[in-house]
Amino acid sequence: MMFEKLTPPSEGEKIIIENGKMIVPDNPIIPFIEGDGIGPDIMRACHRVVNAAVEKAFNGSRKIVWFEIMAGEKGQKIYGTVLPEDTYNAIKEYIVAIKGPLTTPVGGGFRSLNVTLRKYFDLYSCIRPVKYYEGVPSPVMHPERMDIVIFRENTEDVYSGIEWREGSKEALDILEYLKKNFNIEVPKDSGIGLKPISIRKSKRLVRAAINYAIEHDRKVVTLVHKGNIMKFTEGSFRDWGYEVAVEEFRDKIITEKELWSPPHDGKLPEGKILINDRIADSMFQQILTRTAEYDVIATMNLNGDYLSDAAAAQIGGLGLAPGANIGDHIALFEPTHGSAPKYTNQDKVNPSSLILSAVLMLDYLGWSEAGRLIEESIKKTIKQKKVTYDLARLMESVSPIKCSEYATAIIDNL
Ligand code: NAP
Repeated sequence: MMFEKLTPPSEGEKIIIENGKMIVPDNPIIPFIEGDGIGPDIMRACHRVVNAAVEKAFNGSRKIVWFEIMAGEKGQKIYGTVLPEDTYNAIKEYIVAIKGPLTTPVGGGFRSLNVTLRKYFDLYSCIRPVKYYEGVPSPVMHPERMDIVIFRENTEDVYSGIEWREGSKEALDILEYLKKNFNIEVPKDSGIGLKPISIRKSKRLVRAAINYAIEHDRKVVTLVHKGNIMKFTEGSFRDWGYEVAVEEFRDKIITEKELWSPPHDGKLPEGKILINDRIADSMFQQILTRTAEYDVIATMNLNGDYLSDAAAAQIGGLGLAPGANIGDHIALFEPTHGSAPKYTNQDKVNPSSLILSAVLMLDYLGWSEAGRLIEESIKKTIKQKKVTYDLARLMESVSPIKCSEYATAIIDNL
């Protein structure tokens, strides 16, 4: 592969797909996008921790070869565009990548680079595990009850970017069309956005969530929707979700309706996964009041975005919430939080979200030994009250350490 301005590392090999299976060499080349704002600080910390953990877990026989690719401010500076062709090509070529957060202007300007990448590579499952690490200060009484994995559909819904500004010709044409053809009156001074929810994309997301539940011995998959109001988008998502469950996983699942009918009467049969559904607004109070009852969640783009931040707040905040965007052979790992521009270059913020995203990446590569080392070390470091400002301010008499110092403490504890 020839790049316009990138030179791939001279050492390292490509991860490849053979007969539908991923083959990971001992020295895979992994492209990374540093990210805007706090990106450089947390990416530096992440690389140091991952390198040390991989070295330790495999006695030096395995190593990640990092390959920087550009997006956001760095892309603009070097290529004159926020998402250069080289970046697309590198992700296509090397198939597993990790990124820091990228800034998106509000109200105008370019569209979200994060959403663009997810859509371009059809990374349809945004997977966000949210679980509690002992010792992390939390605003709730029982944060340890939270252990969920959110599957957020990543490529459609109101995130499709099909929208028109108020007063534009397109918006006015659509309003006129609605009036003329359906006698629907929408105020003329409205901006217009579309919310496509398709059978195929809904079903593949729910399928991925159920497969995950089977592979990871999870007990419940909850379809979250606002189908009482948006009947033919969110309501259909729920119906298609149940269809996938019943048609493709019949011997492995039981629906909530079946669970509460004879002969089960509310008792989950051994080895079965419960498929239930909840209306989105109710779900926000359920994760607070009946936290332990939820396990794997499958939902659409906007609900998933809101829910993952809300759930992360319960276990100590955005600094600890990792994420993975996974398609059918390409994966892009990234933290749940954004670029927090006010903390740029302060070496201050919590890098755990990105480091834990790298842990998801190590698991994806089949290098779980290194991932477990990092997780255990993060737990130990937090228990020692060596934490960044976000956690320190919630603890009594704890002085925060810097982002880089926190990474050093994790490495020391490996
Ligand atoms: P944000 O960057 O997530 O920051 C919001 C607040 O969350 C921060 O002010 C900070 O809280 C806390 N926070 C975030 N990351 C943290 C970390 N690593 N450690 C500790 N605390 C952390 O959200 P935003 O300010 O709404 O968005 C900023 C930009 O990021 C926007 O342009 C947005 O579009 C973009 N964004 C990108 C992604 C992505 O790349 N995937 C995702 C979301 C947002 P305190 O102020 O309380 O310290």
